[in-house]
Amino acid sequence: MKVHLDESLCVGHGRCYELSAAVFSEDECGHAVLLCQKIPREHEAAARKAELNCPEDAIRLEED
Ligand code: SF4
Repeated sequence: MKVHLDESLCVGHGRCYELSAAVFSEDECGHAVLLCQKIPREHEAAARKAELNCPEDAIRLEED
C-alpha cells in the first residue's frame, strides 16, 4: 500500500502523526511529512486511521 500526502491541504492538526508515527512525522511548523512512500504491512491499519481522521482529506492510501 502506498501513501500520498497533499501538502497544500495540510493545516497541521497533527492527527496523522499521532495515530501513525511510523508513516508520518511533522515539520517545524507542525505540518505533516511522510517518512515513507510504501507502507510496511504492519503499519497499514494505523495509516488507514490517519487517512480517515485527517479533517482536510490531505491523505490518500492506494493499494499497490
Ligand atoms: S491530520 Fe491532515 S491536516 Fe493534520 S497534520 Fe496530518 S495531514 Fe495535515
